[in-house]
Amino acid sequence: MNSQQWIEKADHYIMKTYGRYPLVPVRGEGCWLWDADGKRYLDFLAGVAVNNLGHCHPRVVEALRRQAGELIHCSNFYHIPQQIELAELLCGRSFADRAFFCNSGAEANEAAIKLARKYSREKFGPDRYEIITALSSFHGRTMATISATGQEKVQRFFDPLLHGFKHVPFNDADALRAAVTPTCCAVMLEPIQGEGGVVAPSPEYFREVRAICDRHDLILIFDEVQTGIGRTGKLFAYEHFGTAPDIMTLAKALAGGAPIGAMLAREALAGSFTPGSHGSTFGGNPLMAAAAVAAVHAVLEEGVLENAVAMGAYLTGRLEGLKERFPFITEVRGIGLLIGAQLSIPGADIVKKALERGLLINVAQERVLRFVPPLIVTREEIDLMIGILEGILTEV
Ligand SMILES: *Cc1c(COP(=O)(O)O)cnc(C)c1O
Repeated sequence: MNSQQWIEKADHYIMKTYGRYPLVPVRGEGCWLWDADGKRYLDFLAGVAVNNLGHCHPRVVEALRRQAGELIHCSNFYHIPQQIELAELLCGRSFADRAFFCNSGAEANEAAIKLARKYSREKFGPDRYEIITALSSFHGRTMATISATGQEKVQRFFDPLLHGFKHVPFNDADALRAAVTPTCCAVMLEPIQGEGGVVAPSPEYFREVRAICDRHDLILIFDEVQTGIGRTGKLFAYEHFGTAPDIMTLAKALAGGAPIGAMLAREALAGSFTPGSHGSTFGGNPLMAAAAVAAVHAVLEEGVLENAVAMGAYLTGRLEGLKERFPFITEVRGIGLLIGAQLSIPGADIVKKALERGLLINVAQERVLRFVPPLIVTREEIDLMIGILEGILTEV
C-alpha cells in the first residue's frame, strides 16, 4: 500500500488523538527515515527525543533479535537478569541506588508520585501528600500526570483532577519557597522543559531548589524522561547542575526506541516500596530491558555524549547564523542536542513546509521550533538541515 492508502485507512480506524502529519514512515537508518512511497526524510525529531542512537542502531537491533529468540516476557514475580543488569548500569552511573521499571514516561512519573507519597506518609504522617510542579511543565497523559502537568490544555475536560498538586513558575526559586507548606512532600521538575518550549533554567536555580528541599525535608524528583540518556551531552541532565535529585524518571531514549520507563531512587526512599506497593506487568521485561542495556552501553561507549556536545554547539551556531538573517527568529537556546529556536511568528507552517522538503522538525508551544536529532548526527547532516530550513525561511 502507498502512503495515501494508509492515511485513508487510518482515517477510518485510528482515534484522532494526534494531529498527524501526512507521513507514513516504514524504514529507518541513522538520521534517516523512508516513507511508504520510498521518499527519504532527514529526521531532526527522532521520535521526539527517543531515537538518540538513530534508527535501528545495530547493537539495539541485535539485542532485540537475540533476546526475542531466548525469552520475550516473564512475570515480575520472578527475577529478570536483563532488568537487573540495567538497574546496575543506571545506578552505577547516577545518584540512585535502586530502580523500578515500567513502560513509559507517564508511568515512571506515576511511580515517582506514589513513592514520594508513601515515603512521606510513613515518615511524616497522613497530612503530607502535596507535590509542587512547574507551570508549562509536561509529565505525561495519565490522570495523575496531567494533574502534575502545569498546562491547562492537557487538563481541560478531564476533571476532577487528582488532588494534591500545586504549580509554580519555573526558574523562580522564590515562588517555590513561597509555595512550601506543611502538607508538601515533594517537588517535581524537568531539568529543561521540553514540551514547554525548550526552557533551561538559570545555573543557580537547581542548587536553590535543592536547598529548599533539604531545608523542608521535601523529596526532589527530576523528570528526565526527555533530557535523560545523553540528550543534553551528559548521560543525565542533572549532571550539569552540580546537584542531584532524590528520584529520577527516565523513558524515551532509554531502550534505543523500544518502550520502557524507569524510576530511580535513593535507598532511603526506595525502601518504602514493599511487595504489593506498586507493579507493572510488562515493566522491564526481558525484551525491553535487553534493548535498554544495549542502548545505554552504546551511548556510553561510542562517543555519543561527546558528539552530542560537539554537534549541539555546531547546530546552535548554525541556527544563530539564521537568526542574524531572519528577524522573526528571536532566540536560539538549549543544551546539547535539545535545542529550540524561538520565533515571533507561529511555526506550524515552517514544519509543514519542512516535511514537504524531506525534513522532520517539530514545534512546541506554537512558536518554538524544536531540534532533537539523533545524537549520532553528523556535521554534514546538520548542514543539509540548515540548507533546507534556510530555503523555507526565505519564503516566510
Ligand atoms: C514525553 C514526556 C513524558 C511522557 O512520556 P510518555 O512515554 O509519553 O508517557 C513525561 N515527561 C516528559 C518530560 C516528557 O518529555
